[in-house]
Amino acid sequence: MNTDWNPAARVRGMGTSIFTEMTELARATGAVNLGQGVPELDAPAGLLREAAEAVLAGRNQYPPATGFPALREAVAAHQARRYGLEYRPQDEVLVTTGATEALAATLLALCDPGDEVIAFDPCYDAYAADARLAGARLVPVPLEPDGDTFALDADALRAAVTPRSRVLLLNTPHNPTGKVFTAAELAAVAEVCREHGLTAVTDEVYEHLVYDGGQHRTLAALPGMRERTLTVSSAGKTFNVTGWKIGWVCGPAPLVAAVAAAKQFLTYASGTPYQEALARTLGGVEAWATELRRTLQRNRDLLSEGLTRAGLRPYRAEAGYFVQADVRAWGYSDGVRFCRELPLRAGVVAIPTSAFCLRPGAPSTLVRFSFCKREESVLMAVEKLVKAG
Ligand SMILES: *Cc1c(COP(=O)(O)O)cnc(C)c1O
Repeated sequence: MNTDWNPAARVRGMGTSIFTEMTELARATGAVNLGQGVPELDAPAGLLREAAEAVLAGRNQYPPATGFPALREAVAAHQARRYGLEYRPQDEVLVTTGATEALAATLLALCDPGDEVIAFDPCYDAYAADARLAGARLVPVPLEPDGDTFALDADALRAAVTPRSRVLLLNTPHNPTGKVFTAAELAAVAEVCREHGLTAVTDEVYEHLVYDGGQHRTLAALPGMRERTLTVSSAGKTFNVTGWKIGWVCGPAPLVAAVAAAKQFLTYASGTPYQEALARTLGGVEAWATELRRTLQRNRDLLSEGLTRAGLRPYRAEAGYFVQADVRAWGYSDGVRFCRELPLRAGVVAIPTSAFCLRPGAPSTLVRFSFCKREESVLMAVEKLVKAG
């Protein structure tokens, strides 16, 4: 091959991430992998049976590009039942190949080159990549450690708005911090969106995984927000089927049509048998999620207590799959070095939070441990961390 060949600028440097490195390190060392958020937990048996039956029944060809109609209806019913938001299944709900495609298609549909996307920092690593693919720029607004959790600085948010601001990207419950945005924080976010005519895009893939009796609030339900919000969610985290890659977007018809226009040329459509199985299962999500939260909350408690005993101060994970811990007490000033050494020192893999940080020089003494694992895995990791601490 031509030796002066270079990838296009829009993908340059995206190649190898710390996730690849840590997953490889876990494999090479046999360490307990609390790095990537891949669930070790079972999916609902009925859901798996429905998917298998759909495959065997020959439901294996392209579904409609915007999604299997019964799934769009089930998603609309879910939003109405849980949040009091009405969406027309025909043109206000779009099924996507996971939340990942929903977010990429959304930014491709909403942003022109040079536009700015406001996001809270740290954030899910796809956001910066998606903005870049769209030719847009991600503008970070910090979530600062505040006591045992993380808080939004509403003044910093207001200061981040410029004439090029187009989209505000909000993830609640939040990865990687485990934060749930409070009612007051959401009100501040909504006010900024309304005042500056921003379109809000929300990533709510952990909407069913809020612990300690807490509540998920959806931005679209705030006054004046339904008409300017695209709400993204997915079956992956809710049902422990992250390999299925079925997600969805809800919003006003013109915005959803723009996202569908981009989506049709990314994947055209998404897994027919999985969509059929989810259409039959989403109506019963509440009973399933109650059980799943019990399991995950117990894992969260075991991990948080273990980190405390090991001397790695944990933050409070209010939701989702992850606990943040501060590594300074072990003599580290850099979470990356801690994560590179941890497999050998303790036999455990974690991910440095700096991998999710958009601001150069952002605090780097935090690391992320995931607890969407079998209880044995969490207990084994805890034992190893306490021994090494
Ligand atoms: C896992 C995750 C996604 C990706 O969801 P898929 O449905 O698997 O594509 C998106 N956003 C956040 C915050 C996640 O943690």
